[in-house]
Amino acid sequence: MQLTCSQVISLLPFYEEGKLTDKLKYYIDEHLKKCSKCREIYMRSQKIANNILDTYNTKQYEAFKQNISAYIDSELDEAESLRIKKTAISNPLARKDLEDMYAFKRMLHNSFERTKNEWRNDYSRLIISKLNHSEYKDNSFIKLAAAFALMIIAIAAGFITLYF
Ligand SMILES: [Zn+2]
Repeated sequence: MQLTCSQVISLLPFYEEGKLTDKLKYYIDEHLKKCSKCREIYMRSQKIANNILDTYNTKQYEAFKQNISAYIDSELDEAESLRIKKTAISNPLARKDLEDMYAFKRMLHNSFERTKNEWRNDYSRLIISKLNHSEYKDNSFIKLAAAFALMIIAIAAGFITLYF
């Protein structure tokens, strides 16, 4: 299978997060070896991701990560909940975590007997099906999980400009 540049670019967020099947990862590896345009976008996106990590990987974010489960299960008091909300508003890493957690919880709720591994397989299958059909757009779970990574790719591809 040969992937087109636009397919590769739309899969890069999942590639970076290690969410693709080995096969699909291999196709992207192969494409990146041959295509300097996509390789450039990929390298730029990694640089941007690292910048974002440097900027937002703060103590506040550490505290956020420790409390996020309790927050989702409504186990925090009002002041603590407020702190979580504020972090999620000001910090894109925190926002992504929160969205992922909610999406994951919904997913578990919909099929609570599934193991996390099966869930990962489903995830990859959905992405592959995106290559053939375009059911992808209507799947809010994928949209949420990929929103942040897509933003980084968009910045790297020059669709959005951000200054640090
Ligand atoms: Zn390409």
